[in-house]
Amino acid sequence: MKHLTIIGSTGSIGQNTLHVVRHLSESFKVFALAAHSSVKLLAEQIEAFQPQVVSLTDPQRLDELRRHCGGKGIRLPEMVTGEEGLRAVASAGEVDIVVSGAVGAAGLFPTWVAVQAGKTVALANKESMVLAGELLSGTAAKTGARIIPIDSEHSAIDQCLRSGRREEVRRLILTASGGPFRNTHENLERVTPEEALNHPTWRMGRRITIDSATLMNKGLEVIEARWLFQIPEDKVDIMVHPQSIVHSMVEFTDGSVIAQLGTTDMRQPIQYALTYPDRFASCVPGIDWSTAGRLEFMPPDTDRFPCIRLAYQAIQEGGTAPAVLNAADEVAVQAFLDRRIAFTDIPRLIEKALEAHQGSSSRITFENVMAADTWARRFSLEKVDRVRMAKS
Ligand code: MG
Repeated sequence: MKHLTIIGSTGSIGQNTLHVVRHLSESFKVFALAAHSSVKLLAEQIEAFQPQVVSLTDPQRLDELRRHCGGKGIRLPEMVTGEEGLRAVASAGEVDIVVSGAVGAAGLFPTWVAVQAGKTVALANKESMVLAGELLSGTAAKTGARIIPIDSEHSAIDQCLRSGRREEVRRLILTASGGPFRNTHENLERVTPEEALNHPTWRMGRRITIDSATLMNKGLEVIEARWLFQIPEDKVDIMVHPQSIVHSMVEFTDGSVIAQLGTTDMRQPIQYALTYPDRFASCVPGIDWSTAGRLEFMPPDTDRFPCIRLAYQAIQEGGTAPAVLNAADEVAVQAFLDRRIAFTDIPRLIEKALEAHQGSSSRITFENVMAADTWARRFSLEKVDRVRMAKS
């Protein structure tokens, strides 16, 4: 029996992880759940999975959670809050696997704690690798922590790499759905949040769905792949593949390409990460080849989707530049969702933050990374206000 801490249990990854746990309940048990603020859903999860500890980031919501549980007669587990609470559940001695499924840069802290504690980390929070990939992989090598990706593309690459030696890899090919605007020739300036949230193949959280529409998601995944697989970014390519059936590929030195294919259901890569290196029977149905149709591949249009170019630029710059890229993107995406800036302002804002950023050469520590994150957020928020003023 493996014991899990699930960070971000009420989010999309967390809920899918709990599906897998229910399916494999003879092999996995929830030790701790950590959520940000969705107390109603958290109460239901406590009732269903009976964790020993629950971490709630926002201490203000604790009473509300108690009321929800009390009203339904749910026995409350040990409660912890804030950063110290997250630290406790991500490093507890009882825990074998930490599922890192929080959204955004906030997910780095619990990932960092779990890696320091030598845990197996099932990593869905790609920002951890974008912000601090070098730090996390270096620390994991010392503590014996193992980082297994949940991100579907990286899960695919991990599986493909099992068929060859590392020195035999010529390049990694990340596939991208291309998002909802791959084929539209309309003015991207006028795109609404509703249109951008309408992803053609994957159902995901709001931020990652917008990132898929700008293709920044793929840019972040290039950086993630660079550190997860210790491969230079010029050996990581992107191919648009609208059907999202090929989840990614590895090309070896002899020209052979190994691809991993599957349905667009996150429970598959989540289960792979939990059961690694074994494979268990899945609750996810396989691909229906009679309806799969054609598989298409084409290079991305980096003129229409400049976020890809910005991501390569940030990783080449190195240091804290990827943290700035990510923070500026988080602010810009939220501002777009709040209808404060246009869709096409998202890459503009990120480019400005990268230009203004100093200190790419600074040593990568947790503190330096978080300082760059804070700086870029403040800078980008100010720029959002200015974009607004210029338009009104
Ligand atoms: Mg992905």
